[in-house]
Amino acid sequence: MQSLSLRFVCLAGALLVASPGALAQGTSFVCGTTSSAAGGTGGQPSSSALSPTGTYRALIVYVRFRDDNGDPPTPCPPAGNPGWLSTQAAPDIQGALLDPDPSPPFLAGSLTDYFHQQSNGNFVLFGDETSYTTQLDQADYALTVAPSNLNIQKIVQEFWNFFGTNINTALYDYDNNGIFDQMIFIFRNLQLNITGSADGLASLCNVGATVFSPAYGTYGGVSLDCSNGSINKYQSIDPLKSNIFLLAHETRHCLDIRAGSAP
Ligand SMILES: [Zn+2]
Repeated sequence: MQSLSLRFVCLAGALLVASPGALAQGTSFVCGTTSSAAGGTGGQPSSSALSPTGTYRALIVYVRFRDDNGDPPTPCPPAGNPGWLSTQAAPDIQGALLDPDPSPPFLAGSLTDYFHQQSNGNFVLFGDETSYTTQLDQADYALTVAPSNLNIQKIVQEFWNFFGTNINTALYDYDNNGIFDQMIFIFRNLQLNITGSADGLASLCNVGATVFSPAYGTYGGVSLDCSNGSINKYQSIDPLKSNIFLLAHETRHCLDIRAGSAP
């Protein structure tokens, strides 16, 4: 178990966004990741996280709660342009974050393109973007214990059961280590806390939980590990840029913990 003194909340940074015809708006993200949250038990580097070199296949899952029929998605968007209406299963940016092909050139401005450039061509994160509606209402995924009010294990397990029985999971184990490469959740209208006031968390388990694999279960010879994914709130201001900014930050944690450095 971690002590409070080991926890820190990192401010991912500030992104200044200028919208045509509108005042410039400042957006900042709060990241809930700690070394022990993402790096497995005791904050040790996790062997299951992403290596800084290689090619990996990610799955982005846009999640709506069954009872989510309201506007606007969090956080408050510019009036009239949240980018993800209550009538949409997925936001307008679906398909723009991950290139579905593992070979360059990559979709300009995508998360795939970002990492390819930042790694000088050594790291490729390609993949697919899908949507999912929960089986239960949002309140049914609440933990009673603060500060992590969203029961991450519950929602991840539910999706993993659905996905694992319907999709060839081996496609997402591109490095053939028996572990799903990267599963990225983006929630619309998430009112529950991820942890504290965090917008994102580089883990598929609640802070303080032990590494969940193989408790999530193995489908098609592939298991799902806490360290190989992230939980994120949809960013509705300048959605393409701001969601990539958040996902790039959280995915970096999965690289950092493999490399053994602190987030
Ligand atoms: Zn962080």
